[in-house]
Amino acid sequence: MVRAESVHKSFGAAHILKGIDLQVAPREVCCLIGPSGSGKSTFLRCINHLEQINAGRLWVDGVLIGYRQHGDKLYELRDREVAATRRDIGMVFQRFNLFPHMTALENVMEGPVQVKRESRAAARERAGALLERVGLADKAGSYPSQLSGGQQQRVAIARALAMEPKLMLFDEPTSALDPELVGDVLDVMRGLAEDGMTMIVVTHEMGFAREVGDSLVFMDDGVVVESGRPREVLADPQHERTRAFLSKVL
Ligand code: ADP
Ligand code: MG
Repeated sequence: MVRAESVHKSFGAAHILKGIDLQVAPREVCCLIGPSGSGKSTFLRCINHLEQINAGRLWVDGVLIGYRQHGDKLYELRDREVAATRRDIGMVFQRFNLFPHMTALENVMEGPVQVKRESRAAARERAGALLERVGLADKAGSYPSQLSGGQQQRVAIARALAMEPKLMLFDEPTSALDPELVGDVLDVMRGLAEDGMTMIVVTHEMGFAREVGDSLVFMDDGVVVESGRPREVLADPQHERTRAFLSKVL
């Protein structure tokens, strides 16, 4: 579902991603860990084409991200083509970014109505079902300011799912939450994993990584240092940098 080959990204003179190689199979849950500043968010943003990579190749579901191939030549995509590739990828951020002037239900309906041109009636019905799936059927009429952080994050997940993505990217989805609200969000993500969603999850929740993750990838300083089965990486890290990081977070 995702294949990164030697992906590089710089901001000006700052070389941030220094040759990322990574593969994620359909239905796989890949947990991405690493120190702050190692490039995890930048990498997710490249997958979602919020950033254009400078070198290497990145495919999502067989489609080259950011470029169109014509014979041997590659052309950068136009904005409208970028939007089309991004539509299949759901993203959930640390901050929930809901529209404050819309109810939970309206937030979830917005993408299907505006982007997919779905009828309001059909979008409303699906949005209701999605809110039920994240345990918030009773909050459909609430505004974001009336919801807890955990509830807002679950609405954000429902909103991403409303676009029927092939791939879900989570960037520290529980880092901004009070501890007692983390579990409900992780439970929704666990349910998604059980339903077979392909997911890349940047997280510091090692319990989630161990129990739900199919793979665990440790990034440091813009490269993948090591990856493998979560239990194996956590129990027996092969690299000193991984050991040093895990000793701080476990
Ligand atoms: P992580 O998510 O692992 O904490 P990030 O991908 O957010 O790391 O950031 C990696 C580095 O890239 C940081 O040093 C950050 O300051 C830098 N960076 C990220 N986005 C930009 C940007 N738009 N312009 C300049 N530097 C950036
Ligand atoms: Mg980050």
